[in-house]
Amino acid sequence: MSSERGLITVISGPSGTGKGTLISGLMGIDSDMHYSVSATTREIRRGETEGVSYYFKTRREFEKLIKNGEVLEWDEFCGNLYGTLKSELQSRVDNGSDVILDITVKGALAIKEAFPDDSITVFLLPPSIKDLEDRIRGRKRETEEQLRDRLAEAEKEIAWVKKFDYVLISDSITEAPKRLKGIIDAERQRVRRNPDILKRMGLEVPDNAPKDA
Ligand code: 5GP
Repeated sequence: MSSERGLITVISGPSGTGKGTLISGLMGIDSDMHYSVSATTREIRRGETEGVSYYFKTRREFEKLIKNGEVLEWDEFCGNLYGTLKSELQSRVDNGSDVILDITVKGALAIKEAFPDDSITVFLLPPSIKDLEDRIRGRKRETEEQLRDRLAEAEKEIAWVKKFDYVLISDSITEAPKRLKGIIDAERQRVRRNPDILKRMGLEVPDNAPKDA
């Protein structure tokens, strides 16, 4: 088994910025990437599939997952619970697979804290707030009240961008995934993430290489 660990790429940013589109675009050009399917208490939407979009849970089921230690981080968003499952992340990273997550800012910072050496955080910003409002309105998924709720949440979230490693603008559905892939490829080539290459050449592994390297 390789001693190299998988990379966790956490994508955050206001709802409606196009995180899902960015991730689909990336997965189309990066076949080594796995998507972490979250658990949620939100109702299933048309076009969504259980186990692919989310694991849809009742609040009681979700609370049980937390109690059993199966949730790595969770957050409440617009009245629903969302959480990253240990089963989606831990063993993949331990086995050297790369995983991408679409989660709230609070969730992103929690993953960064739990996996400081294995994760990068990327904040996706809309080209402008007006653009974000137009996109959310255009989806016609929310009522006017839900829309106002999401926009208020968006403005709060944007203030956290300074805590992230990278920032991307969702200005193009073809270019943004390529820029994200550039970030991920560079991270994969970090000296400390490649202890196997160094060992093969009889070179010293840096102190900041992942613990089990
Ligand atoms: P939506 O209802 O639009 O699918 O998602 C609402 C928000 O929940 C999005 O900002 C999404 O990134 C976030 N989210 C989805 N899964 C998780 C998760 O596992 N943990 C956290 N903290 N947020 C999540």
